[in-house]
Amino acid sequence: TNEQKALFIIFGGTGDLAQRKLYPSLFNLYKQGYLKKHFAVVGTARRPWTNERYQEIVRNSISGMEVTAQQANEFSSHFYYQSHNVNDTEHYETLRKLADELENKYEFEGNRVFYFAMSPQFFATICQHVKTQELVTEKGYNRVVIEKPFGHDVKSACELNDSINKYFPEKDVYRIDHYLGKEMIQSIPALRFSNNIFNALWNYRYIDNIQITLSEALGVEERAGYYENAGALRDMVQNHILQTVALLTMNAPTMYADEDIRKEKISALKALRVYDPEGVKQNFVRGQYGPGNGQVAYREENQVDPHSQTETFVAGRIFVDNMSMAGVPIYIRTGKRLTKKETRIDVVFKNAPYNVFGHGKLKRNILSFKVEPNPGMELRLNGKKVDFDQYSIQSMHLRHEHGEEIQSKMPVGYEKLLYDVLQGDSASFSHWDEVYYSWRFVDSIRQAWDQENLPEDAFPNYACGSMGPKAATDLLKEDGNKWHFRP
Ligand code: NAD
Repeated sequence: TNEQKALFIIFGGTGDLAQRKLYPSLFNLYKQGYLKKHFAVVGTARRPWTNERYQEIVRNSISGMEVTAQQANEFSSHFYYQSHNVNDTEHYETLRKLADELENKYEFEGNRVFYFAMSPQFFATICQHVKTQELVTEKGYNRVVIEKPFGHDVKSACELNDSINKYFPEKDVYRIDHYLGKEMIQSIPALRFSNNIFNALWNYRYIDNIQITLSEALGVEERAGYYENAGALRDMVQNHILQTVALLTMNAPTMYADEDIRKEKISALKALRVYDPEGVKQNFVRGQYGPGNGQVAYREENQVDPHSQTETFVAGRIFVDNMSMAGVPIYIRTGKRLTKKETRIDVVFKNAPYNVFGHGKLKRNILSFKVEPNPGMELRLNGKKVDFDQYSIQSMHLRHEHGEEIQSKMPVGYEKLLYDVLQGDSASFSHWDEVYYSWRFVDSIRQAWDQENLPEDAFPNYACGSMGPKAATDLLKEDGNKWHFRP
């Protein structure tokens, strides 16, 4: 295989994300030979740990995987710990010395990946120090990987971006949206642009509506502190949902390569119809979970204000005003403590113009991308019912699920994204312009909501275990539609 050479410097190396996602993903890359001899990881955080302690943490984080003791030891021997306060200039000097020593030992050819796995408030400071204390190399690449959230509105996102761009050019900035690493999200362009049946039909003439569901069964768990200030709109819609909308509504790229894809995604997000406050009222619904299924209400969760007005559910009707998709409602919904965990996209096609079979109603063709929990796709068709005395139509499904063997090889979570960073392929990351247009859209909703004086008893408005407030169903009913996915 194609061995990659790089030094990873992970800021926030003792954190939850690093342990739960990054180390297992790096290990998978290691097992497949993409990382081998010429890689090392420096983890930094405030605590004064030894390398041994850190390596033990790394081994623990992969202990649930298929791994021999020897593999775990070899892999973790590439990990080094450096205690570090992001504001302390001297610490960056120490870090540089360590990085240079490791360069001599492992020969990364000067390639460095700076991974920011800590609170976004530190990103600007780290960028500045990394550059001024000369942690970047002359030869080789220097790439920055940035976790979400990227700002909390247009203004803060612009500020953050300016402070990063002062030190790193856009082409070296990799903004993570981990949904873009999911196999079935990555399959959207494949289905759309390699099948003429879909290529030809993918426009307002044939698509009636698109439905995007990102439902979670879990509640707010340990993230209440962050979530109280963010809410579902900022946490899920600005990034994951709008990135999905872009993939579903963009025009075909000239070639499937990062520059070309970005260009089309940016155009799609730029074409999002931005609502005025009245438009927000008509097109967006928010909710907050109350008790149910033996679970407590959001307002009763740890670290949550008992009068909280934070939304744990959002549904909306989105339009992308470009030539091919104008007028096609894109219904989106996401929320916590819903009936089950499921991520899917249902593309609902218009009915045949006329029913030659006379009796009964024809069902619409629906193409579904099932992202989680069981990745696959499905196409609903009308076909002939097996029946002796009457010629009638019934709906049937073409289903494809990747078999177990393929599923076991599917890159999980961050693995694909980390690999792309090493390859310099930014197609599955959010470009700054995409982030900007997404925030512009989300801000219009947030601002309208913030101006509205919600009565205290507006929330909770849905029970744990349901699929959200009734208004989310009514939203589609108004258009004569309904959610295809109704667990
Ligand atoms: P965390 O609180 O578990 O870890 C933060 C890390 O930063 C720790 O290693 C801590 O020691 C270090 N740190 C904090 N202040 C520091 C300072 N002043 N100097 C040096 N080190 C310091 O956070 P997390 O959950 O791992 O999240 C990290 C980032 O990833 C955040 O941007 C978060 O929004 C994002 N993110 C996390 C998840 C997740 O599943 N945990 C998911 C998506 C995005």
